[in-house]
This record gives sequence, C-alpha cells and structure tokens, in this order.
Amino acid sequence: MPGNRYDILFQPMRIGPKTAKNRFYQVPHCNGGGYRDPSAVVEMRRTKAEGGWGVIFTEQTEIHPTSEITPFIEQHLWDDRDIPALARMAEAMKSHGALAGIQLAYSGINGPNLYSREVPLAVSGGPILTFTSDPVQARTMDREDIRDLRRWFRNAFRRSQQAGFDLICLYGAHGFGILQHFLSRATNQRSDEYGGSLENRARFLREIVEDAREQTRGEVALSLRLSLHEGGAFGFSNAELRDFIEMHGDLPDIWDLANGTWEACSGTSRFKPEGAQEELVAGIKALTPKPVVGVGRFTSPDAMVRQIRAGILDFIGAARPSIADPFLPKKIEEGRIEDIRECIGCNICVSGDMTQGISRCTQNTAFMEEWRKGWHPERMHPKGASDSVLIVGAGPAGLEAAHILAKRGYAVTLADAADKMGGRVLREAALPGLSAWKRVADYRLGQLAPLPNAQLFPASRMTPEDILGFGADHVCIATGSHWRRDAVARLHLHPIPTDAAMPVFTPDDLMAGLVPQGRVTLYDDDHFYIGSVLAELLVARGCEVDYVTPAVKVAEWADNTLEQATIQRRLMELGVTLHLSKAPEAVGADGVTLGCTWTGRQSRIAADAVLMVTARRPDDALYHATRALDWQGAGIKSLKLIGDAAAPAPIAWATYAGRRYAEELDQPDRGDALSFRREIAGLLDLPALTPRD
Ligand code: ADP
Ligand code: SF4
Repeated sequence: MPGNRYDILFQPMRIGPKTAKNRFYQVPHCNGGGYRDPSAVVEMRRTKAEGGWGVIFTEQTEIHPTSEITPFIEQHLWDDRDIPALARMAEAMKSHGALAGIQLAYSGINGPNLYSREVPLAVSGGPILTFTSDPVQARTMDREDIRDLRRWFRNAFRRSQQAGFDLICLYGAHGFGILQHFLSRATNQRSDEYGGSLENRARFLREIVEDAREQTRGEVALSLRLSLHEGGAFGFSNAELRDFIEMHGDLPDIWDLANGTWEACSGTSRFKPEGAQEELVAGIKALTPKPVVGVGRFTSPDAMVRQIRAGILDFIGAARPSIADPFLPKKIEEGRIEDIRECIGCNICVSGDMTQGISRCTQNTAFMEEWRKGWHPERMHPKGASDSVLIVGAGPAGLEAAHILAKRGYAVTLADAADKMGGRVLREAALPGLSAWKRVADYRLGQLAPLPNAQLFPASRMTPEDILGFGADHVCIATGSHWRRDAVARLHLHPIPTDAAMPVFTPDDLMAGLVPQGRVTLYDDDHFYIGSVLAELLVARGCEVDYVTPAVKVAEWADNTLEQATIQRRLMELGVTLHLSKAPEAVGADGVTLGCTWTGRQSRIAADAVLMVTARRPDDALYHATRALDWQGAGIKSLKLIGDAAAPAPIAWATYAGRRYAEELDQPDRGDALSFRREIAGLLDLPALTPRD
C-alpha cells in the first residue's frame, strides 16, 4: 500500500488546465486494430484505466485524408462521423480517473495516401519517406495549403474536444509527424517564413498551438511529442531540440520526448537497455517550466523513481510496459512488485502494426483480446465443471496454460522432462542479447509458486502410460519443437544432398552447448532473430561465419520488430560474411555449393561445419502415442496439443496458445462459430454515385 518508497510516482501532477492523478503516462501507441477494430481498441484502453494509469493516449489519429499512412491501420478523425468511436474511447480511458488523450497526426512526407488517393502535401515536396518506398512524391505546400492545414487541425481540435478528450498530443516525433518535418532542416528546405532559421521552422508549431488554445478555449491540455534526436547532417538534432525548448519553453503544457526514429525509440531489449534515452533527455527539464515525459521501456519502479528524483522526467512514459502489464501502476501502488509482468522488449506488439494484423503481446496474452474474446490481463473466468488438468511441457505454452488454469481454480499438474521449467525461453535467454526472454518463465513461475492448487514436477519425462495412469480430467501436451538439420524450410521443401563427413549443427545443438569449430556456413531460411543471434555466438566463440540466406537482407522478418537494420549492421561490424539471395544446394565434405536464388548460378564456399537455421519439427510424438491408446477409457475427458508442438512459431504464439487452451477449457463448444468477435462496417443507405452527363 502507499507509504512505500514509490509514493513519488503517485503524486497528482498538473498538465496545463488538467491534473493527472499520478505520473504514469501511457504514451500513444499503435495496436494494429485502429479504426478497423474500434471496440477492441476501446476495451484495451479501458484495461489500462483500470490498471491505474494517470494518462492514457490513443494511437496516431490521422486528421485529414490528404495525409494517411495506409497500409498501416491507425485512427481517423476525418469528419464528424469519426467522433462516436473516439468518444467511446475517451469515455473508457476516463472510466477510472485517468486523463484521456488523443494523438493528432498529419504525416506529410510520411503519408503515401494509398487509400484516399489525394496528392500528399509536405513541408518540402519529394519522395514519400516510409518503410515501403512507395513510388509516390509529395507536393510542397504553398501558403494556402498551410492555411488549409491550420484549418484542418482546428477541425480536429474541435472534434477531439467534442469526443471528450482532456489532452491533445501534437505529433512531431519518429520522423512521422509534420511538426518534425517543419522543425528539421532535412525535411524543411523552404525559403519563406516557415523555413530557414529555427525561429522560422518553429512558426507552424507556434501557430497551431495558438489555434488549439483558441479553439478549445484553453480547456484541453496540449502535449508536443517531439523527437529527441534526428540523425544525419541536416536532422533536428538533440542540440537544436534544446535550443527550441529554451526558446519556446512555455509553448505546450507538457513536452513528450521520444527518440528520433521509431526504430531508435522502440529498440528491442537485444539492442537497448531500460532507460536508453536518458542521455538525450537529461537536462531538458531545466530549460522549461513545463513538465517532461519520456519513455525507456521502464518496468522497474526503482528506475522510474530514480528518473523523477534525478530531475530527468516528471512523468514516466510507457507504451510497451503498459501493453505487457496494463496494471503496472496499480501493482506498484499496492506494493505487489513481484506481480509485475515485465515487458521482454521483443517488439512482437509492433509487428502487429507492421503486418496490419492485430497486435499481440508475448507477455500479456489478453492484449487486444479484451473485447474480441473477453480476456482480461488479471482476471480469469472461474473454473468449469471438471477439476484437474495435467500439462506436459513447461515452455511458454505449458506455463501460460498452467498459470491461467490454476488461477481459474483447477488442480493443475505441470510436468517437464528438463530440470528447470521454461522450455525454449530458458535456452534462448542464454544466447547473446536475449536474457530478457527469461521473464516469460519467471513471471509465470512466480505466479504459480504461491498457488496451492498448482504442482510443478521438473525432471519428469512423461510417457503415454504415465499420462493415462495419472488420472487427470484433461491432458494438455505442450512438448515444443526442435530445429531441422536437413535445410528444409521455405526455399527447400525437401532435404538437400549432404555428405555425412560434414558436421551439421542446429540451433538446438548450440543451445545445448555444442559449438562448431573453424569456418561455419550458417544457413538462415527462418528470417527472424535466431540466425543472427547464433552468428553472434559463433563469432564470440572464435568461428569465421558465412551467413547465407535466400532473402535480400539479413533477418528480413525483423523489419516488423524494427530490428532488421540494426541486426544487419551488427553482423557486418562483427565481420560476418554475408551471402544474400543465396542458398545451399549441396553440402560437401569440406564446403557448401550455393545457388543464386535469382539466376541459379552456382558458387562454392569452404566450410568446416554447417549450421542450419531453417524449419522446426513439432515434438508431437507423445501426443500421437497417447492418442493411439484408450485414453478416454482411462477417464481422460480431453487430450489437446498446443504451442510449438502443434505448430512452431514465435514465443508469443505459444503463450497465446496456452491462454486459449486455459480459457476455453470447460467452455461450451462453439462449433463452427468464430472464436472471436469482430466488427463489420455498417452499410450506408445511399445510392451509388453515377458519372454526371
Ligand atoms: P512451447 O514454445 O510450445 O511452450 P517449448 O519447446 O518451449 O515449447 O517447451 C516444451 C517443453 O516440453 C520443454 O521444456 C521439454 O523439456 C518438455 N517436454 C518435451 N517432451 C516431454 C515429455 N515427454 N515429458 C515432459 N516434458 C517434455
Ligand atoms: Fe513487450 Fe514484447 Fe509485449 Fe511488446 S510484445 S509489450 S515488446 S513483451
């Protein structure tokens, strides 16, 4: 309870005309649902309100169709018809006393307008700068366009206030928002009164802040979300930001400072520690009388308190920590530090936005399922008619299933062949940069420990006979997977010729402590993190590494976790030789024959060993062997296969599978009905438009 050393985090804080109940500030973050899944997003934000956040923001909200970032799915505030969905969001955010914030965005040089088909407008015209190199350029705004833009912002201010928001965030960070494009000499090459000197480049910001105050009669608080540092010779550097804040210290009601690019701001734990932007933000508070919020993947309350006490930040900004644990503030307030579900910094949540799927979280399996499935990050449905469950395999799938089922009230037994519970996350956490993965096991083991209805049996390899003899009502098999050795994955659908004299390793071998010697060909047809992590491990063990991939770049799926460029840079800096658009066609006794994926042209590299980072085989033999016996005759009501043992995938898929199994146990069979709720756009009763005569 309060009275603890974290009290300072719970002081009410003024933000202009509003007061936040504490210093926990959920900065704007995407979720892959946006306008497509309005109720799913509303309920996701409501759980944050319930979890004690003082300020809660929407994701980026596009204010006008002349600037939209399709294919990415954010929010729209294009006309009054967008108000009801956002009003519902504001109501949910305020349901437990938080301030509701909306982030308004005009994307300028960042918006290709693939949906609206409008000509993009930018501070200075040129090719659209986004992830996808769209073959589209923006037109330079003239004075009339700037007047229009001010009016569109005014409309958005009015609509935001009408929707019930307490705070408006003006977006100028990550290279995405037009405010940054005005401020930065890289994107502002104007010679009129909006370009040139910093004073001029800041003109538009001053104008729209004034417009916002006038439009909302000063009743809505204003936040400026700016980049802490934009790199490059012409970028809006940290030094210029400091000059700008010194010149305009009073401009917003709060400064929300985020690192330059999204990749730099939201680095994974592999590359960025907690509090990574401290150096860039330290000292800024002294330049302004207004409060400062910053992010840093803060999950440790001690680190948060230190930031406040050291005078670095006034508010603890969080996106990912609030996703992984929407109840982070409440748990700190109640002194339940051990119950915090810490973000592991994997950026799987980001991948939901990048792939236009819907975000999921490795740690918080309820994320974006609050409305779709009625899942809650902290509460589970009480148990159903049956009593006991045996879970075999204590990887992320089995651990999550056990944890949720035990909290539902079942008698849970979790058995694993290994001496330590955790499965793949323990093995992977020992690899370079992945130590945070262990939190997946730590959180669940910590939650299970005090529950008298959960029994854990490490070092217990189960056989089908053990399972039948155990006497549980339900059996869940979560026995994981192992990596293939035969090059089969996406490119090769059948094994390739391999000379038995060549030592061929798999990631499992390396994680078990076996290390190849000499020159190693690493074949990556997996395309996520493990190939590059193992390349680092091999280099650290003194190997010379040839990294071979059929893709055009290293770890291409890691684009979706914002890591690809950092990974590729790291391997190049480590001296790993990259063979892109290539794949092994045959493994000989002393080398590998490579084929070019475009031309088929062959080349050969010498090798002392090969490491295959390809597909995984599900370890489902136990399941099938048990199924072949008379398990129903033994009194088992259901026998299920989940996680990697069913279909190998990233860790987040395994925790999700565990949650789903646990949630659905003893629930009525839904037959062919959808397993989640979705919203379908209502049809407008309007005639089709016809070409004019
Ligand atoms: P997932 O990602 O699906 O959770 P993991 O590979 O992380 O899968 O975990 C699977 C776990 O199952 C491993 O810890 C492994 O030791 C355990 N396991 C595999 N076969 C058996 C078995 N027959 N009896 C008990 N545990 C098993
Ligand atoms: Fe953190 Fe990973 Fe969850 Fe994102 S998906 S919030 S990075 S644990």
